[in-house]
Amino acid sequence: MARNLEIPQETQENVPAEQDTQAESTTESVPTLTAEEIADIQRKREEMRAASKQEMDQARRKLEKIFSDNGNIETGESDEYGDRLSDYLTGMRPEDPRMPERLVNDHYMLREKYHLPDEKMADQDMPEYERRLKEIAKKAGVKIKGTDEAGKFFKEYPMAGAAHFEETKEIAVNIDRSSAGSYRSSLDSLEHEVIHALQNKNTPDMPIEAMEYEAYIAANLNVKAIQEESPDRTEGIRAIFQYAIGSSIENWYKEESSKQGMEIKPVWNNKEYFLKRDEKK
Ligand SMILES: [Zn+2]
Repeated sequence: MARNLEIPQETQENVPAEQDTQAESTTESVPTLTAEEIADIQRKREEMRAASKQEMDQARRKLEKIFSDNGNIETGESDEYGDRLSDYLTGMRPEDPRMPERLVNDHYMLREKYHLPDEKMADQDMPEYERRLKEIAKKAGVKIKGTDEAGKFFKEYPMAGAAHFEETKEIAVNIDRSSAGSYRSSLDSLEHEVIHALQNKNTPDMPIEAMEYEAYIAANLNVKAIQEESPDRTEGIRAIFQYAIGSSIENWYKEESSKQGMEIKPVWNNKEYFLKRDEKK
């Protein structure tokens, strides 16, 4: 079964959320700072900021519905999902003044960790960047194919733009070279899935939360946007956790629950988790 489904480029502008799923589940170990974290949003981040408030609200309402239907978010507490995830992964809430620097540091640290090509190359020579990413995938024993070759998967998950299939060691992604923006966006998606491929090869027991954080922060984070002080920066950071990383993780729990025939919930999506954690400090 597929592990990752990213949203297609066309919808990224409107719905700042990715969807995908990953490996091992709810362990007690909390991913702390560097070694275990990190994941998402470069272009998506910019698109999120560009998205109108109305669209954001719409997306939020949609997500709230999904989450509360799932019993994970109590009424009136919907924002807490992203904030709790943020706290679980980094020990900080999105509004923490240290957060922007943390995300940027993690971005570079993770790019090094996965030996990803220099980002400057993506600005200058996208075909070469694409070749490098594919080379990494090849070395990891992972095949890359188009989404139209992925059987019924993308029909079942029409929101998915890319996916990593753990069992068959395949990445399905469409590289859209019709414009510089869509090409770059496709490469971000490819990179995100390449990271999942490396995780599944090297650290398959990494919690889903850490896997998604890593993939998003390394491949999709818009460093420039994060570094810029702007009135909506905190909301942007909150959206990264709530809509991008959060959606991917949410999907994983749903898929895992249906696989196991019982509801699997994240350990961190409740007040008590943090109360207990903070008591221990
Ligand atoms: Zn992912």
